[in-house]
Amino acid sequence: MIPASFEYHRARTIDEALELLAKYGEDAKILAGGQSLLPMMKLRLASPGHLVDISEVAQLKELREADGLIRIGAAATETALLHSALLRGKCPLIGEAAAQIGDPQIRNRGTLGGNLAHGDPGNDHPSVMIALGASVIARGPAGERRLPMDGFYRGLYDTQLEPLELLTEIQVPTPPARSGAAYLKLKRKIGDFATAASAVQLSLGEGDTCARIGIALTNVAPMPLRLSGAEALLAGKRITAELIEQAAQIATGACDAADDFHGPSEYRAQMAGEMTRRALAGALERARRD
Ligand SMILES: Cc1cc2nc3c(=O)[nH]c(=O)nc-3n(C[C@H](O)[C@H](O)[C@H](O)COP(=O)(O)OP(=O)(O)OC[C@H]3O[C@@H](n4cnc5c(N)ncnc54)[C@H](O)[C@@H]3O)c2cc1C
Repeated sequence: MIPASFEYHRARTIDEALELLAKYGEDAKILAGGQSLLPMMKLRLASPGHLVDISEVAQLKELREADGLIRIGAAATETALLHSALLRGKCPLIGEAAAQIGDPQIRNRGTLGGNLAHGDPGNDHPSVMIALGASVIARGPAGERRLPMDGFYRGLYDTQLEPLELLTEIQVPTPPARSGAAYLKLKRKIGDFATAASAVQLSLGEGDTCARIGIALTNVAPMPLRLSGAEALLAGKRITAELIEQAAQIATGACDAADDFHGPSEYRAQMAGEMTRRALAGALERARRD
């Protein structure tokens, strides 16, 4: 299908992108990788009069570490995340999730910021960022604000971002030594969105007790689900097989998935539990080796 007509604008800087957004107001939309927006425009589910392309804004593609934070520009592509030595060394969970997104063409164009801003519960990065305790930086007419990923989603395709705000950076606390993580995603075939997926990031303290843990689920509710109950169960304890089993049951019980082409809701809830069971065991194993 062919989208409705629109005017295309290429921004070269963050300021230029913000000026264009302010000029065209709610008739404008940010275009990052276009891998979600363009299909929606072709289906006429979105018909913006103006597209502001941020994919060539160099500042939005930076990936660095400063002040205990890994700082990722919102227009960094999935491929850039996959090939980042910094992420591989300090926060492998992000690349592990990026590797499971779509296919190489989608990963070459799709961006981390677009994946988070879109608000699709099937997207993989939101739960990963919640498990990591990440925040995003948004800039708009009222200035700059920092939004924790936990609480960023208000519902299906609904986030805390205001229409004229640009998500500029994702900030992830650098995991300390003795950390481990895993992203377990069940999908029907390569390139699919998750039937159910679970992200776990944990750090071990004295006596191998759990010093910090983040657990979140993908695509089993209208928005990503942080498993605060399972986190509270495991925090401060030595993680045993029995505790992992209890955490998996909490995951199954927390789901609010629809019956759809991914499978019946009961099956997806059970799979969310299984993904959580495997992600916890994998993250623990990696933390012990770190
Ligand atoms: C066939 C197919 C399979 C896919 N499979 C997966 C998958 O398995 N897992 C997964 O996670 N995703 C999947 N995707 C989605 C893909 O990851 C998209 O790239 C992602 O959802 C959006 O990123 P984008 O950079 O392409 O954003 P765009 O499509 O350009 O934008 C998406 C939305 O976010 C807004 N936006 C973008 N950047 C910003 C910003 N910096 N600030 C504010 N708003 C912004 C846009 O205005 C738009 O509303 C798939 C897509 C396709 C087509």
